[in-house]
Amino acid sequence: MTVFSNPAFDNHERVLFCRDQPSGLCAIIAIHSTALGPAAGGTRLWTYASDDDALYDVLRLSQGMSYKNAMAGLKFGGGKAVIMKTPGFQGDDALFERFGAFVDTLGGDYITAEDVGMRPDIMATIARKTRYVSGLPPQSGKAGGDPSPKTAYGIYRGIQAAVNARLGRDDLDGIRVAVQGVGNVGYHLCKLLRAAGASLQVADLDETRVDRVCAEFAAERVSSAAILHADADVVAPCALGAILHEESIPGIRARIVAGGANNQLRAAEDGQRLADAGILYAPDYVINAGGVISVTCEYLGDMDDAGVTDLVAQVGPRLAGIFEEAARTGEPTNVIADRQARKIIADAA
Ligand code: NAD
Repeated sequence: MTVFSNPAFDNHERVLFCRDQPSGLCAIIAIHSTALGPAAGGTRLWTYASDDDALYDVLRLSQGMSYKNAMAGLKFGGGKAVIMKTPGFQGDDALFERFGAFVDTLGGDYITAEDVGMRPDIMATIARKTRYVSGLPPQSGKAGGDPSPKTAYGIYRGIQAAVNARLGRDDLDGIRVAVQGVGNVGYHLCKLLRAAGASLQVADLDETRVDRVCAEFAAERVSSAAILHADADVVAPCALGAILHEESIPGIRARIVAGGANNQLRAAEDGQRLADAGILYAPDYVINAGGVISVTCEYLGDMDDAGVTDLVAQVGPRLAGIFEEAARTGEPTNVIADRQARKIIADAA
């Protein structure tokens, strides 16, 4: 396994390999930067083809968290963890407790929360062994709990900003949005979009999830193979990453790509490809920051739910600024966001 020569290695401060044979735990925690504060970022529970794939993922995701937290104005650095679903994976309490104990060894330099595959009740199990955890079941009126509704709200505000910038519209009435993946984030996004009068096309590998949004929000079912290329105004990727690349971009008919999935671009130059194709791209880590804003506010315990919602709403103006700079300079939006994020981190360091 390569670490320093791994293509996703970006001078990460620390990488912790966590193995506990009795429980079957195989995990990696990566701290990219603590320049702005403790590294915050969720834990992903996933089946990886190899250890190298898991390492690549956690290195890339943790760097993304540094950028995301910086751009969200949070006093937190970037980190991430992956728990590997290995053959015979049980995922019982003992495994998550052991994982909590590993998080605890970092003494608060890494604060975990949910990512794909995790839930508030699992975070509560992790919390038996460490206090450096967030995304716990909420207490009434307080910030916290499943971050995906807040993530969806930030994406919704980002879509409003993108529609305004690209289509010159102040509302979403009749705007056609194609949502790829209607899990935690996609479901809540569909709810908000529908309430704003948007018409929805949706796809998910899990057809029961598609059934639900079709029934609740009058969405139209589209195949997973076709959703990115749907005849729509906005494509909202809310499944997994690396879906925007030289093969997929030419077929995109929407003029806006704005969704919650992390690492949507397969490579940085895909941002230029989107710009060249006349597609306005909302940089993923800017538009999907609502969840980390929620979990870090919960961790600090200094804000109620309404205050968190107000902070998340700032995603809209933040993106509007990036879109305006892109229109002025001709640069791709991802390049502008990366530069802004790196400057915030460098200034803090
Ligand atoms: P989730 O697992 O609840 O939902 C993802 C959905 O995507 C699943 O229903 C899955 O079946 C579907 N899917 C996977 N591949 C697909 C494909 N090729 N075509 C169509 N559907 C597909 O996860 P989530 O919490 O909703 O997160 C979605 C994305 O948003 C992830 O990339 C995650 O990293 C990112 N994200 C989530 C949060 C959050 O608060 N949950 C915050 C920031 C970013």
